Amino acid sequence: MISNRAKKVDSSGIRKVFDLAAKLKSPINLSIGQPNFPAFDVVKQKAIEAINDNKSYYTPTQGNPELCEEISNRYRRNYNISNSKTFLTSGVSAGLFLSYSILLDPGDEVLIPDPFFCMYRDLAYMINAEPVYYDTYPDFIPKIENLESLVTARTKAIVINSPSNPTGYALNSKQLEDLMAFAKAKNLVVIYDEIYSEFVYDIDHVVPSFDNLIILNGFSKSAGVPGWRMAYVLAPEPFYSEMLKLQQYTFVCANSIGQNSLIAALDYDFSEHLASYKSKRDLIVEGLSGKYHFVAPGGAFYVFPEAPGGEANSFVEKCVENNLLVVPGNVFSTKDTHFRISFSASMETLEQGIEVLRKLV
Ligand code: PMP
Repeated sequence: MISNRAKKVDSSGIRKVFDLAAKLKSPINLSIGQPNFPAFDVVKQKAIEAINDNKSYYTPTQGNPELCEEISNRYRRNYNISNSKTFLTSGVSAGLFLSYSILLDPGDEVLIPDPFFCMYRDLAYMINAEPVYYDTYPDFIPKIENLESLVTARTKAIVINSPSNPTGYALNSKQLEDLMAFAKAKNLVVIYDEIYSEFVYDIDHVVPSFDNLIILNGFSKSAGVPGWRMAYVLAPEPFYSEMLKLQQYTFVCANSIGQNSLIAALDYDFSEHLASYKSKRDLIVEGLSGKYHFVAPGGAFYVFPEAPGGEANSFVEKCVENNLLVVPGNVFSTKDTHFRISFSASMETLEQGIEVLRKLV
């Protein structure tokens, strides 16, 4: 009864982590992939007003024009992106689904990083396309010389994620320019997932320019509203219109309350949250230094160290025995050599986690 497509999607890795978590009463939880701050007060207030004003109907497929225009203006001003139009969608997850759906026919290939955000792989399976991994170990930088040999007549697109989940690596402008030149030479569309764009600690976040660039970003991480399912896509034609066409018959529109309140998030001064996340990053880097092999993250809220002993699943089991929850690398990778720590937690939780990690090594 069940399609092969559905059977091919494997969620056993992450389910195992949930099962392990369920065994612990109050774990030191460094496995969480969402911000640890609530929605901003101004946004909450606007959302309440939107509810009271009955902004509960379907919106146009592309979403609130004022918010779309404001996002377009910002990308033009800050990153010189002028060839794209903006629409709102139900999370970057939906943006990914729509991007894959308009670009990939059954059997087509999409280049994805390894390690990767799990959806990049399973979404390909869901539409009968093939994920092809470009290895970024050990420094988590994509290497053009490795990419070249992966391209076939079926390769249509490449996913780039910066800052990265699960590695925390933030690409610089030279690295991104090289990737765009590669995509141009191979006639690929670039799907650029920059959902962690507000969480960059050492360099400014970079948005590259390229004719065939689909930019995915959203409010889940940067505005503390992952459950509101609000994100946006910037894409040039024909991608923009094709995605909207499919949105009409899938997600229909983004959540109307979010559409009418999150404009306030664009003007929110994020510097305090950024400073707090930078302190968390510094704390974890200092805590692991000398004990673990890892690349210090320049962005997002993850570190991806090598598992002592080289086998992440058994190391994570040891962590769980010590009441610490982290995620084994094979949830995000074809390898199981590393594990993901999320530092999106209170300083106190982080200190407890670091203590356990230092003891276990
Ligand atoms: N991309 C990356 C790299 C992510 O880590 C996540 C969330 N964990 C998403 C996309 C999905 O985000 P959203 O809540 O906007 O669907």
